[in-house]
Amino acid sequence: MMRKPLIAGNWKMHMTSAEGCGLAARVAESCVGLTDREVLLAPPYTMMAEVARVLEKSSVIISSQNICWEEKGAFTGEISPVMVKDAGGSGAIVGHSERRQIFMETDNLVNQRVKGALRFDLLTILCIGETLEQREGGETNAVLEAQLRRGLEGVSSSDMINVVIAYEPVWAIGTGKTASKEQAQEVHLFLRKLIAEIYEKNIAEQTRILYGGSVKPTNVDELMAQPDIDGALVGGAALDAESFGRIINFES
Ligand code: PEP
Repeated sequence: MMRKPLIAGNWKMHMTSAEGCGLAARVAESCVGLTDREVLLAPPYTMMAEVARVLEKSSVIISSQNICWEEKGAFTGEISPVMVKDAGGSGAIVGHSERRQIFMETDNLVNQRVKGALRFDLLTILCIGETLEQREGGETNAVLEAQLRRGLEGVSSSDMINVVIAYEPVWAIGTGKTASKEQAQEVHLFLRKLIAEIYEKNIAEQTRILYGGSVKPTNVDELMAQPDIDGALVGGAALDAESFGRIINFES
């Protein structure tokens, strides 16, 4: 099955609304005529609705950077799937390493978020990744397997159509260090086999697995040329219209 590449930009905690809308307009320009790939932006919540309005006529998907599993209630500081949809969003990033490491989000919490996002039909990007210590200790596959299995616990085969996996080695996020194309491909293949084991081969073939970790205009082409790399989750370079425009327009 052909998997449509997905390039996702995570704006994290950057920019004012005016700056975000300006960048969104430039991203929309970079997407003109591109039908063989999808583009997603995850702006801060405060500007989500405004950015969505800027992108109304484009096919760019708007995503939240995290998600609660409940529709509403006493969950101070959280955002619900209904709110994301109300603001024009249709996707959610879950389990980003910054959430896991700085805000102590556990696999169990991440799994609740995944299921919550899927219950509301959001395109759900589940992030997983090993630390440098874990890689150097030879634990990469075991760590990734645990994060993937726990993150997807209770997710049905039919829901997998809305799941995207993002492999983001923690040591490569915001550090300028990128996994080599060989290292990334090896992990992506491992993850695809694991998805086939958890579900079935067809599901593994249809599931997009993104690479994230210092993706730049200079390395996107070689990463995207790998058979099991189906897109990129981009942080730093997504804040620059020119760089992100080049990444969106990767050649492979
Ligand atoms: C990220 O935050 O998901 C990320 C990959 O960041 P960067 O591209 O800056 O490494």
